[in-house]
Amino acid sequence: MTAIEPSGEPWPYSWPEDEHCYSHGAHEPIPADGAYLVCLECGHVFVTALDLLLDYAVNSPPDIPVPGDITAKDINFCPHCIHDF
Ligand SMILES: [Zn+2]
Ligand SMILES: [Zn+2]
Repeated sequence: MTAIEPSGEPWPYSWPEDEHCYSHGAHEPIPADGAYLVCLECGHVFVTALDLLLDYAVNSPPDIPVPGDITAKDINFCPHCIHDF
């Protein structure tokens, strides 16, 4: 099935680079009211600060601080591609 925009035009074949996550190979739309952070390297969209905290917790070794001990502002790299923010 091909997705069709309301205008009747097919979706563009490729997405704008700033909305395509190379860590997940997926289109990750930025909400109309903005995202907390978009990784400049892989393009992952962290919609909220909590998203960043949770991804950090899931992708981090068990011996480093977890949510509760840190805030999103303490995370200075992308949990998916290790790119420094
Ligand atoms: Zn990244
Ligand atoms: Zn992603």
